[in-house]
Amino acid sequence: MKIMKFGGTSVGRPERMQQIASMVSTQGEPVIVVLSALSGTTNALVEIGGLMSKGEKSEAKAAIDKLEKHYQGFIKQLVKDKASIDKATAIIAEHFEFLNIILKISFSESLSKDILAQGELLSTKLFSVYLEEQGINHKLLPALEFMSINQFDEPQIGSIKIKLSQLLKKHKNTNLFVTQGYICRNSRGEVDNLKRGGSDYSASLIAAAIGASCCEIWTDIDGMHNNDPRIVKKTKPIEQMSFDEAAELAYFGAKILHPASIWPAQQYKVPVKLLNTMQPDAKGTLITEKAGSVGVKAVAAKDNIIAIRIKSSRMLLAYGFLRKIFEVFEKYRTPIDMITTSEVAVSLTIDEATHLKEILKELEPFGAIEVDKDQVIISVVGNEIAQTEAMVKKLFGSIMNVPVRMVSYGGSPHNISLLIPAAYKTQILQQLNKGMFGL
Ligand code: ASP
Ligand code: MG
Repeated sequence: MKIMKFGGTSVGRPERMQQIASMVSTQGEPVIVVLSALSGTTNALVEIGGLMSKGEKSEAKAAIDKLEKHYQGFIKQLVKDKASIDKATAIIAEHFEFLNIILKISFSESLSKDILAQGELLSTKLFSVYLEEQGINHKLLPALEFMSINQFDEPQIGSIKIKLSQLLKKHKNTNLFVTQGYICRNSRGEVDNLKRGGSDYSASLIAAAIGASCCEIWTDIDGMHNNDPRIVKKTKPIEQMSFDEAAELAYFGAKILHPASIWPAQQYKVPVKLLNTMQPDAKGTLITEKAGSVGVKAVAAKDNIIAIRIKSSRMLLAYGFLRKIFEVFEKYRTPIDMITTSEVAVSLTIDEATHLKEILKELEPFGAIEVDKDQVIISVVGNEIAQTEAMVKKLFGSIMNVPVRMVSYGGSPHNISLLIPAAYKTQILQQLNKGMFGL
């Protein structure tokens, strides 16, 4: 059994949804299809929730109506039979009635999660109506019945495994299942989600839970590229890479795969394929335990980084200094991305500014603090790159005119990271494309 996950753009138009219906129903093995919401829907729901939380009811109502119209237009092109049109119309009416009811009651954090869940519920139900119209045998698996997170928002793979296998056992003769990405239940049993872009995470968790033969992530680009195609003209897809390399890339800016979705597949040894719905025959990227080849695979950039330098002569020959600094970040649940130290100073980066003020206040007693906002982490990722002298030479040779604020080298054999001011991002990505890949 394999997983096929389709992102928002792959289901965002009726003709795309029709195309994926024929794809998923002609595979040589049983399939669980995981769907995102139609493109734009989750953003619209975030906006609706935001308006409701501010008490701006008439604006929220207008946004709900606009979204409902979009869906009414969508199904007109999706299904043809009277019976299917009636079913799809009733599904839309049900979910938008729900949003209109929420509008009338007092807003809460848990209601905002209910609002966000409507996107995936709608996409899967409408897809199911289309499959039915086409006479394609399938079952809808409600993610809210098996996908769950604990009190720390961590998915509970053990319980997902048990619940999912029980559901699948009920439908022994079915070869095609459809379920929602992104949504889940939390430890209080309420509707919750795996955070923005979390459908990939759902797919990987399901793949791990059932020991799938493969976890296919279908988007609108033909795999992970060696550089950011939005910024650099000539980029190429990477044929194969390891989970470790993919994790570094996903985390450091390659938008194609949600970073959290790596670990379940890696831990349960399920190969992941990144494929393109618009070009289903393109090879895409295969992610497995093995890297495939030695060398630099890609560069990626992570925006909105804040660098903090703590300079103190008290650090000289002292121990326990770093622990005290780390404790401040731990207290404010703010992850540190890069870190470099000298004997009298430590520089580190964060990308989460929510508690920056408090953090800086608590760091003050440790020494002189400098903060640089608007920085970018440029991450060079590959297999055993840090051991390859020629690679390091090439890397620094191609960025000579860029002011580098920090370098992180040797943390893992797969990665060298540079911190640079945001203004140099385009330039450095282009220079690295030439210098490292000859493109
Ligand atoms: N629909 C959700 C989002 O837009 C989840 C996903 O697409 O992965 O964030
Ligand atoms: Mg996505």
